[in-house]
Amino acid sequence: MKIDGFRGQLITADHADYETARAIWNGTVDRRPRLIARCSGTADVAAAVRFARDHDLEITVRGGGHNVAGTAVCDDGIVIDLSAMRAVWVDRAGGTARVQGGALWGDVDHETQAHGLATTGGIVSHTGVAGVTLGGGIGFLMRKHGLVVDNLLAAEVVTAEGSIVRASADDHPDLFWALRGGGGNFGVVTSFRFALHPLGPTVMAGPVFWAADDTADVLGFYRDFAADAPDELGTVVRLGTVPPLPGIPEDQHWRPAIAVNCCYAGAVEDGERAVRALRGFGRPLVDLLAPSPYVAFQSGIDATVLHGWHYRWKSTNLADLSDETIAVIADHAYAAGSPRSCVVMFHFGGAVVRVPHEATAYAGRDVAHNIVIEGVWLPDESGEHAAAETAWARRFLQALQPHRSGGVYVNFLDFDDDTSRVREAYGDHTYRRLAEVKAKYDPDNTFHHNKNIRPG
Ligand SMILES: Cc1cc2nc3c(=O)[nH]c(=O)nc-3n(C[C@H](O)[C@H](O)[C@H](O)COP(=O)(O)OP(=O)(O)OC[C@H]3O[C@@H](n4cnc5c(N)ncnc54)[C@H](O)[C@@H]3O)c2cc1C
Repeated sequence: MKIDGFRGQLITADHADYETARAIWNGTVDRRPRLIARCSGTADVAAAVRFARDHDLEITVRGGGHNVAGTAVCDDGIVIDLSAMRAVWVDRAGGTARVQGGALWGDVDHETQAHGLATTGGIVSHTGVAGVTLGGGIGFLMRKHGLVVDNLLAAEVVTAEGSIVRASADDHPDLFWALRGGGGNFGVVTSFRFALHPLGPTVMAGPVFWAADDTADVLGFYRDFAADAPDELGTVVRLGTVPPLPGIPEDQHWRPAIAVNCCYAGAVEDGERAVRALRGFGRPLVDLLAPSPYVAFQSGIDATVLHGWHYRWKSTNLADLSDETIAVIADHAYAAGSPRSCVVMFHFGGAVVRVPHEATAYAGRDVAHNIVIEGVWLPDESGEHAAAETAWARRFLQALQPHRSGGVYVNFLDFDDDTSRVREAYGDHTYRRLAEVKAKYDPDNTFHHNKNIRPG
């Protein structure tokens, strides 16, 4: 197979790299595309889009390959693969970075921190910049600096017709609005320009763990602690077992536990003060909160979510952490069969909620927390494990029903979630507006292998 003017790698089933090129983060996804077009730049992306359209091929777009639903690959179609486009250029004087569409968050943190700068990004360094950004983008720095999309200044996009356009506040502003939350529906983003902020390079950061038996008390304390926290303090709660990570005593490994992971986006001394009450609460099992290089902190949990393991997620936004919600969480969080299954809760507020709703297509600004229930099993574990972890995640979500705020983060939807949940992620008003932009830029729904917004 040949694509005119294509300079990257074309990978078909007979190619030595085919098996690794079609694999993505979630090992349950086993799809066999007809062609993987590993692009070397924007011109290749445009050529691949035009080729796919001319040959009536199903298109998927791969950034970091992390979407749990596996939307980056399809059977029998073409994968427009940006994994070789990972460059990051920092404009220190301008306080911005240009990031190619296949970069990972580790690439961004590495380059920006060399200048003592950072922007809000995902909490695992091997997650893709593109997918995270296009869904909205949540992370430790969001309460201080806004969502990832609040830091997006411009994007270069290859449209469904194969033309190259710039989207920003001044160029195609309707497209720019839709890209900031509407996912991969509007074209292939070949580069992003982000605003950067001074940070670190040393920050007060890390997790504190308590025994699972203390969960209700810890969450009760955390609810008020997080509500009163300064914008600089980002926290993410994790319930499951203590992972066998460096720095954690071996006798604690795999013990059921709740952790609050913190990152203070400001001076270390201020961070020490901001987390003092948390560290002093109850009887922590392990306290790893310490001045740390931001880059090291941002990859600290990478090994708990490895490529190729099997995953099934269920997620929702939470109205608040009422006593009843806490009771449901404490009851279900440790009932998974696998020690790798876990629950992750992000805390919002701060700068996220101060951006007007209409400004971007991200629709969940006013939630207090969201929760992701992550069923995990190993590739060589039997079908029984798959069924058990999946059933646990579904049961847990069901039990949370009365406590949901309505709404879900689109990037946490799995392949078996009802398609109505895409509309739920945006709400009717934003969904309708997104459908209008879709009708303008992709009227044939060429980009539909995603959390799809139908042209309307
Ligand atoms: C371990 C882990 C940690 C995570 N942590 C966070 C977090 O901290 N914050 C957060 O917000 N989310 C987080 N997520 C969720 C994440 O936002 C989604 O999984 C996201 O889709 C990943 O982006 P990707 O580029 O790696 O995905 P891919 O699987 O490569 O792509 C997913 C979809 O995004 C679109 N897409 C990808 N690249 C492009 C592009 N260049 N142009 C146009 N469309 C494109 C396509 O529609 C594609 O189907 C995490 C996920 C995982 C697995």
